[in-house]
Amino acid sequence: MSTTALETINHVIGGAQTAGASTRTSPVYDPATGQVQRNVLLAEPQDVDAAVQAARAALNAWSDTSVVRRARVMFKFRELVVEHTDELARIIAAEHGKTVEDAKGEVIRGMEVVEYACGIAELTKGEFSDQVSTGVDLHSFRQPLGVCAGITPFNFPIMVPMWMHPVAIATGNTFVLKPSERDPSVSNFIADLYARAGLPDGVFNVVHGDKVAVDALLDHPDVDGISFVGSTPIAKYIYERGTAAGKRVQALGGAKNHAIVLPDADLDFASDQLIAAGFGSAGQRCMAISIAVAVGDAADELVEKLRLKALDVKVGPGLDPSSEMGPLVTPQARDRVVDYIGRGEGDVVVDGRELNIDGDGFFVGPTLIDNVSTDMSVYTDEIFGPVLSVTRVETLDAAIELINANNYANGVAIFTSSGHAAREFQRRVKVGMIGVNVPIPVPMAFYSFGGWKDSLFGDHHIHGPEGVRFYTRGKVVTTRWPDHAPDPTHLHFPTAS
Ligand code: NAD
Repeated sequence: MSTTALETINHVIGGAQTAGASTRTSPVYDPATGQVQRNVLLAEPQDVDAAVQAARAALNAWSDTSVVRRARVMFKFRELVVEHTDELARIIAAEHGKTVEDAKGEVIRGMEVVEYACGIAELTKGEFSDQVSTGVDLHSFRQPLGVCAGITPFNFPIMVPMWMHPVAIATGNTFVLKPSERDPSVSNFIADLYARAGLPDGVFNVVHGDKVAVDALLDHPDVDGISFVGSTPIAKYIYERGTAAGKRVQALGGAKNHAIVLPDADLDFASDQLIAAGFGSAGQRCMAISIAVAVGDAADELVEKLRLKALDVKVGPGLDPSSEMGPLVTPQARDRVVDYIGRGEGDVVVDGRELNIDGDGFFVGPTLIDNVSTDMSVYTDEIFGPVLSVTRVETLDAAIELINANNYANGVAIFTSSGHAAREFQRRVKVGMIGVNVPIPVPMAFYSFGGWKDSLFGDHHIHGPEGVRFYTRGKVVTTRWPDHAPDPTHLHFPTAS
């Protein structure tokens, strides 16, 4: 089928769909069939400028809109997201490849940030101190940053942008989203829901694109803040170039998440959890477990349980309700995973390359590699596919040391029945998000999400209280209303009287 007859996905700027000056496009696949299903426009710098100007034009009125009215738009937006959850999930599954149930989970976790943002009046209350000096009061409050941009990855096309825009918009900013070019459609749907919720034109804009669009946002003098989520090399680049241009930047990067399994753990439970956390969404989650660290006697029994369960995972199209795991997102992603499995590193216990599914979909089956050591590329690199490696160590201390030596530090988990071991682990491990018998410890929306080391560049984690701080700037006001002629002026530094 000729790709020229396919639908082309436009930008949404100032409340209207537009192709702007864009002529380049990128294919959007159906990962389950391998076919290109539509094309997405790739913005030129003029398109980014148009979106930023639309956001700038909307900024004064929106930031002056009362906090109660801003919250009401969020309440309405939340209602619409709930009403359209199934439709949103199907749009995601069709372009990303994940199962519809998995995509629904993503919609709900994103919606929880919208619910958090509905409480923005409470979240942005300032402080007041009475009589800090005679006749003098002090108060603080926070104001929006300005025009904010979000640059997001393919793996959570609705949830990760929702870590950003509800908080940014509720705090009075205007927003330009540059979603992943691999699964872009759902972002235009979100723009439509915001419009239906009563959000004024220009407050939420979508520009589709690649590096050209990203660089234009990073360099644009009218962009005040940038939130990025994606791979580590790009996160570092975004942070350095964005801050060099004077912007506030939070850039969340990649991951290599470990799960320690102690010999006292319930191995049936732990292996179930590891299978879900390793192969859910075909391993394309920043909080996926990709390394099981089997301690002492746990190893042999754990590997056998994982082997049987990995072979049992039902792989198929995301839109097929019986599938538990879908394909990879693109042919490049599939080839990359296949390459890692074939490197001859460790012992391949279950080989996902042997999976046979009719057609040209980008499928790779669950893969289990035992006896992986820290010098192997399957250990050091973020594969971002359904590959679970097992590393064997003798003690909890050795496991913690191994994890702390890794440059990634997004999520980590421990499986144990020992409270003492769990406590030692959470105090000593140098990772941002920790699970105790919980494999994917993604914090709820009212906490903040973020890793350490190469998993986050910047000072703020995302959503929750740190999200509110990221999208606002504080002011402190010292006030005096004298009812008599002021005392004679002194030139010394003022102290409380
Ligand atoms: P990616 O880094 O390739 O792309 C992310 C965004 O950056 C996209 O919008 C893309 O268009 C843009 N981009 C890509 N290359 C660029 C370049 N050279 N210059 C400027 N912009 C560029 O990431 P991805 O493959 O879409 O997503 C997977 C990655 O995201 C994984 O590494 C995963 O761990 C990470 N991730 C991290 C978190 C987290 O919370 N830390 C969450 C989700 C995903």
